Amino acid sequence: MSVTHAIEADDSMFGGLLRQDPELAEILLAESRRQSTTLQLIAAENFTSPAVLAALGSPLANKYAEGYPGARHHGGCEIVDVAERLAVERARDLFGAEHANVQCHSGSSAVLAAYAALLRPGDTVLALGLSHGGHLTHGSPANFSGRWFDFVGYGVDAETGLVDHDQVRTLARTHRPKAIVCGSIAYPRHLDHAFFREVADEVGAYLVADAAHPIGLVAGGAAPSPVPYADIVCATTHKVLRGPRGGMILCRGELAERVDRAVFPFTQGGAQMHTVAAKAVAFGEASTPAFAAYARQVVANARALAAHLAAEGLVVTTGGTDTHLITADPAPLGVDGRTARGRLAAAGIVLDCCALPHADVRGLRLGTAALTTQGMREGEMRTVAALLAGVVRGALDPAAVREDVRELAGRFPPYPG
Ligand SMILES: *Cc1c(COP(=O)(O)O)cnc(C)c1O
Repeated sequence: MSVTHAIEADDSMFGGLLRQDPELAEILLAESRRQSTTLQLIAAENFTSPAVLAALGSPLANKYAEGYPGARHHGGCEIVDVAERLAVERARDLFGAEHANVQCHSGSSAVLAAYAALLRPGDTVLALGLSHGGHLTHGSPANFSGRWFDFVGYGVDAETGLVDHDQVRTLARTHRPKAIVCGSIAYPRHLDHAFFREVADEVGAYLVADAAHPIGLVAGGAAPSPVPYADIVCATTHKVLRGPRGGMILCRGELAERVDRAVFPFTQGGAQMHTVAAKAVAFGEASTPAFAAYARQVVANARALAAHLAAEGLVVTTGGTDTHLITADPAPLGVDGRTARGRLAAAGIVLDCCALPHADVRGLRLGTAALTTQGMREGEMRTVAALLAGVVRGALDPAAVREDVRELAGRFPPYPG
C-alpha cells in the first residue's frame, strides 16, 4: 500500500488534516504506523484510549485558565472549571487523597512544584542516586534539582538489587535532610513506604513519593499506595495510568494551599484544560474493574517476561519484578545494553538502555504497560522474550524478526478499527 493510500484510509483519525496539511498528516500517520507495527517495550509508554485522545483534541485546547476553579485570572472559565473540579474529584476518589492538583504539565513539573512547596534553595534532600535509578529531578547536576538543592544519594544493595534500608537510615541521620524522596525510573520492586515514613519522622524530614511509574498500578490496586505515607505524592498520568502526557500531585489537606500555589503561580502559568479534561477521562477509566484487571495483567505479563528473559540468559535485576518494569543486563548474551538496543531497534523491538547499579556497562529497561493494553498476555511474553534474546545474541536476523514483530503486533492493534 502506498503512503498516500494509507493516509486516505486513516484520514478520519486525523480530521481532514491530509487535505489541509499533507506534509504533517504524513508524519502523524507514519508515527501511528510505527506504533502499531513495532513492539513498545519502553517502560514509561502506553496507548491512551480514543476517549483520552478525543479530549486532547477538543476545543478545550483553546481556553486560557490561569488559577483554579472559581478563582481564575481569565473570563469564560465556567465550563472548564467543571472539567477541572471533575478531574480533581476523580483523582481524590481514585487514590483516596485529601487533595489533588491536576494542572502539572509533566512529572518533572510536579516534582519541581513539590520541592517549591516544601523546600528553600540550598536545602538538603535524600533521594535514590541517579546511577541507581533516580530520576533527573532527584539531583542531576544537569537539572534544576541538582543545581538548587544539596542532594545526597542512597543506593541499592550490590547483591540483592533492593533499596539499602540501612544506608537510607544512616544517611538520613548523618545529613538530616529537609526532604526524603522515594521513587525511581527503574526500580522493579515495591518500595516500603512505611519504612521511608519512619525514617522521615525520625529525622524530621518531609517524605516525597515520586510515583510517576507505579501510580497506574496503584490506581488498579496492583501496587501499594504511597498516599497514606507521603506528605506529597508526585506522579505522571501517561505511564501505566494510560492517560494524557502530564503530571499531578496528591497530598494531605493541610498542604493543599502550598502545593497549589507552588504549581500556579510559582512554577507554571495557565493550565492546559484539554489535558486536564483528558486526565479526568483517564481517572474515570482507571476506576473501573476493567482497569484493575488490566493492572493485574500488566504485572503478570512483566513477571512472565522477566522469567523468560532470565531463562534466555539475561541477568534480571532483583531476579524479577513486582511491577510493570524490568531491568536486565544482556552481558551473558555477549553485548552491552546500548548495542542490544540498537539491534532490537532494527527488529522493531523498542526499549531503553538504563544505568545498572554497581556496574560500568549499561543494561536494558523494559515494561509491559503498552503490550498489555494491546491485549497481549503471558503466551505472547514468551514469544517476545525469545525474539528479543535471539536478536540480542545475534542468533536471529533482525530483518527477519522485524516481520515476525509486524505479524505479532498486527494481531493486537492498539486502536482496533
Ligand atoms: C517519568 C518520571 C518523571 C518525569 O516525568 P516527565 O513527564 O517526563 O517529566 C519523574 N520522576 C520519575 C520517577 C519518573 O519515572
